[in-house]
Amino acid sequence: MCGIAGYIGLRQASPLLLEALRRLEYRGYDSVGMAIQHDNCVEIRKGPGKVAAVDSECHFAEMPGTLGISHTRWSTHGGPSQRNAHPFFDASKRFAVVHNGIIENYLELKELLRRDGVVFSSDTDSEVIVHLTSQNFKGDLLEAVRSVVKHLQGAYAFCVINNVDREIIVARNGSPLVIGIGQGENFIGSDVSAFVEHTKKVMYLDDFSLARITKDNVQVSDFAGNPLPLQVKTIDWDLEQAQKQGYKHFMLKEIFEQPQVAQDSLKQAVSITVRPARIIIVACGTASYAGYVGKYLIEKLADVPVINEIASEFRYQEPPLSKDDLVVAISQSGETADTLAAVRLAKKHGVKTLGLINVVDSTIAREVDQVIYTRAGPEIGVASTKAFMSQLVTLYKVAYSLADRTFDPQQLVSLITKVLEMQPQVKEIAQKYYHHPHFLYIGRNRNFPLALEGALKLKEISYIHAEAYAAGELKHGPIALVSDEMPTVALCPQDQVYAKTISNIEEIKARQGRIISIATEGDERIKSVSDDVLYVPKVDDILYPFMLVVPLQLLAYHIADLKGCDIDKPRNLAKSVTVE
Ligand code: GLU
Repeated sequence: MCGIAGYIGLRQASPLLLEALRRLEYRGYDSVGMAIQHDNCVEIRKGPGKVAAVDSECHFAEMPGTLGISHTRWSTHGGPSQRNAHPFFDASKRFAVVHNGIIENYLELKELLRRDGVVFSSDTDSEVIVHLTSQNFKGDLLEAVRSVVKHLQGAYAFCVINNVDREIIVARNGSPLVIGIGQGENFIGSDVSAFVEHTKKVMYLDDFSLARITKDNVQVSDFAGNPLPLQVKTIDWDLEQAQKQGYKHFMLKEIFEQPQVAQDSLKQAVSITVRPARIIIVACGTASYAGYVGKYLIEKLADVPVINEIASEFRYQEPPLSKDDLVVAISQSGETADTLAAVRLAKKHGVKTLGLINVVDSTIAREVDQVIYTRAGPEIGVASTKAFMSQLVTLYKVAYSLADRTFDPQQLVSLITKVLEMQPQVKEIAQKYYHHPHFLYIGRNRNFPLALEGALKLKEISYIHAEAYAAGELKHGPIALVSDEMPTVALCPQDQVYAKTISNIEEIKARQGRIISIATEGDERIKSVSDDVLYVPKVDDILYPFMLVVPLQLLAYHIADLKGCDIDKPRNLAKSVTVE
């Protein structure tokens, strides 16, 4: 994920593009760059860092010209650095490109281009686009780009300009791109926040389409060359809403991004070549709950014993570590201080380390022996949602890889899309229960970590006291708390522990507890022991964590929203916990 912007018109492009970069910075924030056409030349300025820092070096707004493109990067291929920042030039410096997404076959394309004598100036996947454009250019930039997209596999939105033509060519397949239609000027953005104060007339480009954008005109066509109708909409969003793409909060937007996130994480190559004698998963908060799901899976599928350790505890223990162990560190930011310390402790003992990390080139990513990026894209909401989803997918891939199998669940992405449709039912339940000051969450086996995550979400954003227990543990103490004042969220899909969980629910019911069950579609029996039921689609037993997490996130979100809480910035919390 990243931000791209473009401008063509009569005004100076660079100040407008700089403003657009500031607006888009929430989408990616490790490098920034701009390309402006002027006097039959293209000038590029770029560098690693946040928009303000790079601008203080590059002085973007001083670049003259009325046509340009810009980029704020969230690295996927090659660390954040001057050479890897977008835009990229071809060898002749006549063409420039900015790209959002991943070109999956870039290594093959690079090899072919190298054979033709092309020299690459970056480690990115994106650079192939500009060299291919230059090779395919026979006088018409749009036609060149049409030839280029035939070679590309993966997800992209990109913009190309050259040194003479008064036009910007854009292509889209899988990454967002929107065109803003002005009077004698047109805009491009990854979302409308890039230009919303200049025009409210927008056109969302569909997948598999190209557009030629001049100052007075936009022409859209499909990859084969057939013209497509212009579907211009008028939006009534202000800037804040625009950055959230119409969602009320970033957290909600991020919950709804999860099908895409699962798809991106599934594409990530995962190969664990050496089978360890034992795995120790170290993490904090939400990442540690993903790690607990990992334990159940790795032990079941790969028969490797797994210990889960909270990183802040592990670092001060004297764990008996052996060289045949593998320490797996999970962190969204890759900067979590306790998890980093746990990694360093493991390394001190000569133990191999594997990191499952979201932010490319973050400290943990750099220090572990092997890193697998989880590909959630930047997460803005402090309470983690889509990062958890990406950690789950990645852990499944790790478990399958250890078992010498491939995790390739048909339909997973569409099933996640389907569970999101239950939002109205979740909202109704939130309405009914949001005034309760305490909640219990229960689940067994793989569902237990989901109960922990559900309770954590509720605590974090609604400030309601919530506790999660393994369902079978309740009768050993916490059941004393149960009354009609303290509702229980029971995770009870029809998996191999279904009957056991039902018994635990009965125990709560018998003590006047109120039950909100999350169960499998078609399960009528659950109704007799529940006050309310949320149904998720029936899936293979092993996939239920993916189904359960969505209603849990939505429930916490809607309860917090009804309470009027500051959902994206809950009190006392920070996004990246770099202190002990
Ligand atoms: N894959 C490209 C890169 O690593 C683009 C990443 C992005 O979308 O920011 O540079």
